[in-house]
Amino acid sequence: MVQDLKLFIAGEWTEGTGDDHYEISSPVTGEHIYNVPKASQADIDRAVTAAREATEEMRHWTAFERADLCIRIYDLWQEQIDEVARILTTEQGKPFAEEAVDDITESADYFQIAAEDVKRLSGEVIPTTERTRRMFTVHRPVGVWAAITPWNFPVMIPMEYVGPGLATGNSLIVKPPEFTCWALLEIAKVFEEAGVPKGAISVIPGAGDIGEALVTHRGIDAVGFTGSSATGARIVSKMGLKRSIMEMSGNGPTVVTADADIQKAAEAAVYGAYYNAGQVCVATERLIVLDEVHDEFVEATMKAAEVVRLGDPFDDHTNMGPLNNQATAQKMDRHMADAVERGAEILVGGKRAGGFPTDLYYEFTVIDKVPEDSAVSQEESFGPVLPILSARDDEDAVAVANRTRLGLQAAVFTNDLSKAFYYADRIRSGTVIVNDSTDTWETFQPFGGAAGTDTGWGRQRIDDFTDLQTIVFSLRDE
Ligand code: ADP
Repeated sequence: MVQDLKLFIAGEWTEGTGDDHYEISSPVTGEHIYNVPKASQADIDRAVTAAREATEEMRHWTAFERADLCIRIYDLWQEQIDEVARILTTEQGKPFAEEAVDDITESADYFQIAAEDVKRLSGEVIPTTERTRRMFTVHRPVGVWAAITPWNFPVMIPMEYVGPGLATGNSLIVKPPEFTCWALLEIAKVFEEAGVPKGAISVIPGAGDIGEALVTHRGIDAVGFTGSSATGARIVSKMGLKRSIMEMSGNGPTVVTADADIQKAAEAAVYGAYYNAGQVCVATERLIVLDEVHDEFVEATMKAAEVVRLGDPFDDHTNMGPLNNQATAQKMDRHMADAVERGAEILVGGKRAGGFPTDLYYEFTVIDKVPEDSAVSQEESFGPVLPILSARDDEDAVAVANRTRLGLQAAVFTNDLSKAFYYADRIRSGTVIVNDSTDTWETFQPFGGAAGTDTGWGRQRIDDFTDLQTIVFSLRDE
């Protein structure tokens, strides 16, 4: 049955005042699953006005009151996990049992952690030059955020902003892509039930034009963006003097050194390439293996690749579902053709799989002898592909790893402690993981790109959502 979704604006469910809507079909079945209204400028203005009022109120709440609100959300969320995970699989395509349930479970953790963090978010008393002067700092909410979020984790990524943002007294207007907004709108019912002040969280799905109307809006104080570097660059050039958290593309290299546990490295590399069908900013997008262990690694990888079971994401046996959208599938097609043309060798996969209800199901792919100048090595593919590149020695491996504009999360496999630090000290990446997949993260992990890359600056701690205010007292001289 086709769902007619509503926008969640200023604490109310509304069809909005626009005269257009989006019609969305499932990547799993191809069926038309929902319609969602396209917001008008008046709808956006209303959300911003309500958000300003809500943050003005919440800035006076104690940290403990905001933490209680977050815990109420966390508790109510638990009852919705299966239902929301089912919707997530329907609209996004990730396997229900293998991924979607964990995804929605973990998304709630942002509220629990934010509730803990905010209670310990203290300012400082700063020494002064005058005996009669006292100076201290307090954390204030930044104000109203526009959170512009992607389709690969349509609930989790918005919560990376909403959890800590709400805990620190901010309002947030979340703009998910129109084609993955159903699960998020479903979970917004929890916000309502938990007693989130009207307007403190609004959800306005839409494409780039709605995003642009938000990030350029004068009533928006800050922008949280997770998406591609190209869109991020456009947003930065348009938004003016707004605070921001910009989390963008990665092309995470994994280096397999000569002394690595090859079996473990192969399994982690395969996992990092097929999890969420490779549609993850920290996916294992480039595998750099030292010549000495190349053949052994390829053999282990081919064996490890047998674990991938592409299929209906509602089948418990499936661990890889379809790609989410045609743009991503077409990028994969382009990257495969380019790699072959440049002399790479496809060991398994390399094309869309037949026999499924849509043509978004893509075979798990391993490519060897990938030249550095190929698109699959240079760009983020965002599909289920493991490209294998070679390096002569450790120095060469670092050089190959760093020849990218996208330094988000790297991994290195080695059993030598000094070598692990050799790589961590040299790879230009926001995070370096030793002996595990690039697809490894903790909810509270500081996360963002390395300076000098096109990956952005991400978020470190809950204080990213606050303004530090300095208060200075001049006392009577007694
Ligand atoms: P992808 O290419 O993976 O879809 P994008 O970076 O284009 O990633 O999209 C990430 C988010 O940015 C989505 O919510 C999208 O609608 C939004 N977006 C796209 N273009 C713009 C824009 N010009 N201004 C603001 N948001 C945008």
